[in-house]
Amino acid sequence: MTALYAGIDVGGTSVKWMIVDEAGAAVDQGDFTSGGEISARVVELARSLVTEHPDIAGVGVICPGIVDEGNGKVLYAANLSLDGVPLAALVEQACSRPTLLGHDGRAAGLAEAVLGAGRGVDSFAMMPIGTGISVALLLNGELLPGSTFCAGEVGHAPIFPDGEECLCGQKGCLEVYASAKGIARRYARLSGEDIGARAVEARLGTDPIAREVWDTAVTALAISFTHLILAVDPERIIVGGGLCHAGEILLDPVRKRLAEFLRWRQAPAIVAAELGGAAGRWGAAILGCQAAGQTHFERWTV
Ligand SMILES: [Zn+2]
Repeated sequence: MTALYAGIDVGGTSVKWMIVDEAGAAVDQGDFTSGGEISARVVELARSLVTEHPDIAGVGVICPGIVDEGNGKVLYAANLSLDGVPLAALVEQACSRPTLLGHDGRAAGLAEAVLGAGRGVDSFAMMPIGTGISVALLLNGELLPGSTFCAGEVGHAPIFPDGEECLCGQKGCLEVYASAKGIARRYARLSGEDIGARAVEARLGTDPIAREVWDTAVTALAISFTHLILAVDPERIIVGGGLCHAGEILLDPVRKRLAEFLRWRQAPAIVAAELGGAAGRWGAAILGCQAAGQTHFERWTV
């Protein structure tokens, strides 16, 4: 009988889970809408998954916010009422399986490192661009949590001094200009039309306001990448999240802008993430495999 591994991705909107076998095939998956007493619901989910699939040998749970992975504890998670919850221990007690807790962004980075656009490299910066922006940093083969588990919050780095206001209280933050939400919001403010980032992208050839908003996003990203490249010299930059569907429409101008900011050295490869929205779940499943002390994930492909 082959062992199974469970990955549970706890998000602000929904909780998604997946059961993977030793060969890396997803044998079961599902989701439910977040809300209520989320830690109790996650514990109950883990218990029912193990009842249904007794061959589960390890469980990985991931969530956003500030996560102390070493102690399996959520320190802070906006909108999830998980602050201070020792989630790994609670799940482990409930289902009697070894359990690891991870941060959702770093888990997505782990999945890209093992199964996606980060395969075969020792260092990368993976930036999911969606509602917000953060970065998962893989350095010497390890994902960096930071001294206070806050590494990678570059979305709130001021890019344009005295720029537009951000929800964090600062002005000119990267995600104000370059997140999918920021692009949609800036276009709506300048044009009076609230159409979303995808529609802005579709209008690039015909609408000067769309072009201006997009070019500003490209510049903001190129500035952020310049800082990342000069600080840690990664082998690759991986762009993920909702905006990554734009592909070369985003990446090509970012590479050109980056070359202007990095005149004295070459930029590393800038590539699109490969796992899309499933990266978190795959990362959680890899953690489940690691929790069981196994390395089967090294042979998985997606
Ligand atoms: Zn901010």
